[in-house]
Amino acid sequence: MPLVARSLALNVMYNKTRAVFKNPKGYEHELLSLCCITKTMMGWNLMKVATVCRERCGGMGYLAIAKFADYISMAHAAVTAEGDNRVLMTKIVKDYLTNVSKNGFKVPEPTLNAQVQIGTFTDVTTLEIMVDLFRFREKTLYHSLVNKMSTLTKEGKKTYEILMHQCSDLIQDLAMAYGERNTIEECLVFLKGLKNAENLAVMTVAFQVFAIDILKQDLGFFMARGAISSVAAKHLIERQN
Ligand SMILES: Cc1cc2nc3c(=O)[nH]c(=O)nc-3n(C[C@H](O)[C@H](O)[C@H](O)COP(=O)(O)OP(=O)(O)OC[C@H]3O[C@@H](n4cnc5c(N)ncnc54)[C@H](O)[C@@H]3O)c2cc1C
Repeated sequence: MPLVARSLALNVMYNKTRAVFKNPKGYEHELLSLCCITKTMMGWNLMKVATVCRERCGGMGYLAIAKFADYISMAHAAVTAEGDNRVLMTKIVKDYLTNVSKNGFKVPEPTLNAQVQIGTFTDVTTLEIMVDLFRFREKTLYHSLVNKMSTLTKEGKKTYEILMHQCSDLIQDLAMAYGERNTIEECLVFLKGLKNAENLAVMTVAFQVFAIDILKQDLGFFMARGAISSVAAKHLIERQN
């Protein structure tokens, strides 16, 4: 289910990026980053979906008719060609830093205080709270990166060394946090446009599964910062299962 949920959520993000590409007004400085992050998230998702589905199909998955060989090779091309995904993630963060410092881009601000308020909750699985947690993660990673880069610059390290070696993991994490926060925000916009109650209920659960899966994988980050309590973490894991 998490793979289906993520594929649905990423499709919503893809549609947003396509709409921005068609009419970039208001997104002139962000268009490239939105295209890059959509490409990387969808390429990696295809790679995982194709690999897991092949495995679940057992030996049948090897048959040419199953087409998994095509999907897997296509996925590897997607993460490498037209800009290697890891390189694009670095580009996204470099542009992010420029957009904040020069183009008025605002680092997302959670509605609730993640540590003082959300950290005391026993249930954090509503979409509104999870969106706030995604914003908290992006904001925290951004400030960690800026502080680390500033310290290393003062120590006389070269920009290339800082970006490629010292801050590489932070950069990769921030780019993904940016992409996933944009995705979940767009999923909320998508839900607001649904008129049919049954469709709304199904898609709400799908997007919750998408968000819970991300929080679950990054639980250490949130728990270490007091944004998810151990009781809420236990509930989150049980909720997805
Ligand atoms: C199907 C396909 C079609 C292609 N078509 C064309 C074409 O028509 N014309 C053309 O000119 N080229 C083409 N290419 C080449 C493509 O542009 C390059 O392969 C791509 O840019 C990656 O560069 P590279 O092969 O030098 O790998 P590298 O950049 O050397 O990457 C090797 C590994 O290092 C990692 N890495 C590199 N930099 C970083 C970083 N900053 N942080 C973290 N990890 C990093 C990468 O993730 C990768 O795992 C094609 C490639 C493929 C797969």
